[in-house]
Amino acid sequence: MKILVLNCGSSSLKYQIIDMETKDLLCKGLCERIGIDGSKLTHKVPGKDDFVRQEAMPDHKRAVEMVMEAITDEVVGVLKSIDEVDAIGHRVLHGGNLFTKSCLVDEKCKAAIRECFDLGPLHNPANLMGIEACEAAMPGKPNVAVFDTSFGMGMEPKAYTYAIPIEYYEKYHVRRYGFHGTSHDYVSHRLPEIAKLPENAKVIVCHLGNGASVSASIGGKCVDTSMGLTPLEGLIMGTRSGDLDPAILQYICNKEGIDVNQMLNILNKKSGIFGMSGGVSSDFRDVGAAADAGDQKCKVALEAYRYRVAKYIGAYAAAMNGVDAICFTAGVGENDKQARKLICEEYLGYLGVKIDDQRNDVRGKEALISADDSKVQVWLLPTNEELKIAMDTQALVTK
Ligand code: AMP
Repeated sequence: MKILVLNCGSSSLKYQIIDMETKDLLCKGLCERIGIDGSKLTHKVPGKDDFVRQEAMPDHKRAVEMVMEAITDEVVGVLKSIDEVDAIGHRVLHGGNLFTKSCLVDEKCKAAIRECFDLGPLHNPANLMGIEACEAAMPGKPNVAVFDTSFGMGMEPKAYTYAIPIEYYEKYHVRRYGFHGTSHDYVSHRLPEIAKLPENAKVIVCHLGNGASVSASIGGKCVDTSMGLTPLEGLIMGTRSGDLDPAILQYICNKEGIDVNQMLNILNKKSGIFGMSGGVSSDFRDVGAAADAGDQKCKVALEAYRYRVAKYIGAYAAAMNGVDAICFTAGVGENDKQARKLICEEYLGYLGVKIDDQRNDVRGKEALISADDSKVQVWLLPTNEELKIAMDTQALVTK
């Protein structure tokens, strides 16, 4: 079975084709600047040169058609015909409280995705556009929606209820949802498999990328996760602030004469390590290099970043009354051995966590990085959200 996985943004579309028999990636690519001048498709086949096609893409339907042309192209294609695609899996950001798991797309599902536009104003409309573009370009092929919020729907009310008047939950479904759910779900199921943990293992996953979040799960079921109603809550990120006193919004708005929308834009796009470093960069490598060269703000930004991750790990160990394994994933988690080492050594000694420096000298592959006498196993595990989307898609279309 071959699954096309799509992740649509408002002006972009990322795709992969995965062969489910081997779990091999056959090709992947990106359509950029959809609906804007200068549209471009970049198509990558492992072991071959990249193929780039610059041509107008007025909408997502044209982008999907160009993807279909690339994957069936005589020279750069990987399929003889589009008939070889068995189903399409779509990443959908927000399922609100309507979806607890992935689902086959039908009119009801599309209406529900539309109902969640308010909760995911930047992503959900684009995700739906991608679904409708596939329905138009490949009529009859099953489409599956995989929600970034499904994993967090496993939380109990005590973990997802905010301490504000309950009417806001009742009227508007204001609650903790959590994001990066596909990644947390993939890693928290894969980890017990490779680490040979018991069925009800208590696992903490640190997804540390440009966006960052931590989750706690028992036996693969989410107990808590750091992002909230939106992806703004929780850890310090590339450009997002994470947790802060909500009164700061009013205080800065009044001082600067800006409104709450402008303030949220600052918290989402100009904060995090970018803001703390005084605008040096949102890329952890740049901020790390500046800190090494003596930039004090960058140094504090990275210290605060690690401190926040460690506080969440401590909180989640308490929430689960223990932890069997901690796992690092995503850009920083998979590549930055220094961050992994410092988070564990500076703050997690009391849990009996011990990092093995030699084992930790690794990037981007599944590896145990804790010492044999560590009381908690620590792992590096590359996330694979596309594979998880493809797995859910396969499961639903072969039901
Ligand atoms: P992601 O969102 O998972 O793609 O992660 C992207 C982030 O990973 C980038 O912003 C980089 O700052 C970070 N990153 C990638 N490689 C490294 C590295 N070797 N050291 C530190 N950070 C890294």
